[in-house]
Amino acid sequence: MPDLTAARQLMVESQLRTRGISDARVLDAMLHVPRDQFVPAAYRAQAYEDHPLPIGDSQTISQPYIVAVMLESLQLQPSDRVLEVGTGSGYATALLAELAAEVFSIERHPALAENAREVFTRLGYKNVQVFTGDGSLGLPASGPFDAILVSAAAAGLPPALIAQLNESGRMIIPVGTGDSQQLQFVRMVNGSPMITARELVRFVPLVSGNSDV
Ligand code: SAH
Repeated sequence: MPDLTAARQLMVESQLRTRGISDARVLDAMLHVPRDQFVPAAYRAQAYEDHPLPIGDSQTISQPYIVAVMLESLQLQPSDRVLEVGTGSGYATALLAELAAEVFSIERHPALAENAREVFTRLGYKNVQVFTGDGSLGLPASGPFDAILVSAAAAGLPPALIAQLNESGRMIIPVGTGDSQQLQFVRMVNGSPMITARELVRFVPLVSGNSDV
């Protein structure tokens, strides 16, 4: 097994800092969270490489750089309450837990949700709650949120998520289908969403409704 702490430091320098990630809190969180604990054992040695990895149920843990871009865009404050849609491995959830006060994360695959809960318990994260369900509807009972991070691609901006942003809320979400997806950054200004198009990306689809798991 390679030295994973050294691999993590190298990831932060060569994949994040040199590509323009500069938010000290984001860089610190990514130096701290053991990404190797969020990937299946067979992929642990590759945990700090510059690409997504399979996590089961045909899903993937996102490339570290893209996670950093999304986190940096949200300009999280230590007092923020955050919603994450698409817990997956729980890696981005743990980073959010380092950067914000409270994290509500929703995942449609019960097995992935359960696995993530176990990792959070093992690593001692107490400010995270994982729900199983359709995250395109958000979590109306727990909102509104200061920030929302969506890590599966939506066909369009889900109205329920916009409705759960507080008056200065921010959301980062991949929008589009197949090969044609782009991150959209949404900021609420006087009750209206202001949208900025950002990086081209490739995420698994946000599956809404009652499609088979
Ligand atoms: N941030 C995660 C990304 C996982 S991939 C990580 O780095 O591990 C996206 C996840 O979104 C998958 O686990 C998928 O099951 C989940 N997903 C897709 N549609 C969803 C929906 N409507 N509600 C909740 N989760 C959803």
